[in-house]
Amino acid sequence: MTRGSTSADVAIIGAGVFGAWIAYYLRQSGRSVILLDAYGAGHTRASSGGESRLIRMGYGDAELYSRWAVQSLTGWSALFAAKQQPLFHQTGVLWIARPNDVLTQATLTTLQRLQIRCELLNADELANRYPQMKLGKKAWAVLEPDSGVLMARRAVQTVVNAAIDLGVEYRIAEVLPPPEDHLTSLATVNGEQVHARTYVYACGAWLPKMFPCLLGDKIFSTRQEVFYFGCPSGTQAFAPSQLPAWIDFDNEVYGMPDLEGRGLKVGIDRHGPPFDPDTGDRRISSDGLSMAHTFLRLRFPALDKAPLLETRVCQYENTSTGDFLLDRHPEHANVWLVGGGSGHGFKHGPAVGKYVTDRIEDEGPVEPLFTLSAKQRVQQRKIF
Ligand SMILES: Cc1cc2nc3c(=O)[nH]c(=O)nc-3n(C[C@H](O)[C@H](O)[C@H](O)COP(=O)(O)OP(=O)(O)OC[C@H]3O[C@@H](n4cnc5c(N)ncnc54)[C@H](O)[C@@H]3O)c2cc1C
Repeated sequence: MTRGSTSADVAIIGAGVFGAWIAYYLRQSGRSVILLDAYGAGHTRASSGGESRLIRMGYGDAELYSRWAVQSLTGWSALFAAKQQPLFHQTGVLWIARPNDVLTQATLTTLQRLQIRCELLNADELANRYPQMKLGKKAWAVLEPDSGVLMARRAVQTVVNAAIDLGVEYRIAEVLPPPEDHLTSLATVNGEQVHARTYVYACGAWLPKMFPCLLGDKIFSTRQEVFYFGCPSGTQAFAPSQLPAWIDFDNEVYGMPDLEGRGLKVGIDRHGPPFDPDTGDRRISSDGLSMAHTFLRLRFPALDKAPLLETRVCQYENTSTGDFLLDRHPEHANVWLVGGGSGHGFKHGPAVGKYVTDRIEDEGPVEPLFTLSAKQRVQQRKIF
């Protein structure tokens, strides 16, 4: 080993939720691991750096993701218990459905088949239970009572700290894009060389910068806006004890109750314009704010004039369908491409970590949905 060089069994580039969990499980399996991140775990520009992320089990008929969400909630809960970090809020998650809502109907069927606890609620039951929400006479909904919200930034930092406790070497370092023809070592911007038997590039929205020829037109980074509105004083009506997190796919909006006093969160799920994760402007747009206000007027009339407390602009790193990318590099079997969380990946951190660890261990084939060859150059979102 030369001066300025390090070696490990596995080098992981990216300490977002995917890289962090892969580091954790690989180290548990006995491998030496070095985990590198350009800015640090859970930083503001990373997709995993948001304050909070939904964990729900429903995925229409995409059963694999439902099973992974169940497995992942167990993984998150075990880690939080071991580290005494209460970073999961069991708020419940409410799927707000429209009449003849195929996605929510399929979700209900899948949840029932997998025996995941859920409740079907009609318009009267919704009005009685959640008087602070206006859902209309034709509304129906599915409630997942065991689901809720992960406090994302702190959760991913907890995973990284747990990995460090196990012996993972963690460093802030920006890794240079690898030369296309030579992936037997990696170099950092500061001139250090890292040698490993296996390289895992878990770079989120930065994957196209790392592999421009391979992924430049297969990972679509989009600008996504999030708003926190102030709730009325002296009431618990918008607190998690009285209001679940919700998903309103018809309006392309999701949200969360007033967690930890941060305000009612409204997130816009409709894909925004292309976004550069390093240099993109993180101020919200007037269109986004107006969409959030329209939604509040529709669903939470009492918050019509609610003050805007905080905002966030983050990026989804979408694949063509929304299916994850978890595959080996087509020309280098010891290089893994991990990402494509597509606006729903955070919850799955434990399942992704275990899956990639197992495939590195057993050298087995990758599930067809996750392969690079299944990723197209045109977006046709199938996974919500
Ligand atoms: C607004 C918003 C809301 C969302 N809501 C939900 C939700 O409710 N539920 C849910 O499950 N998911 C949700 N998601 C999706 C989820 O957050 C992402 O899918 C997930 O966080 C992606 O994690 P990642 O590890 O792939 O990427 P990231 O978290 O972006 O991590 C990638 C890391 O790689 C590092 N990196 C990149 N290039 C280099 C380099 N050259 N050298 C060193 N390090 C490098 C970066 O610094 C970064 O830390 C949401 C996403 C957004 C943006």
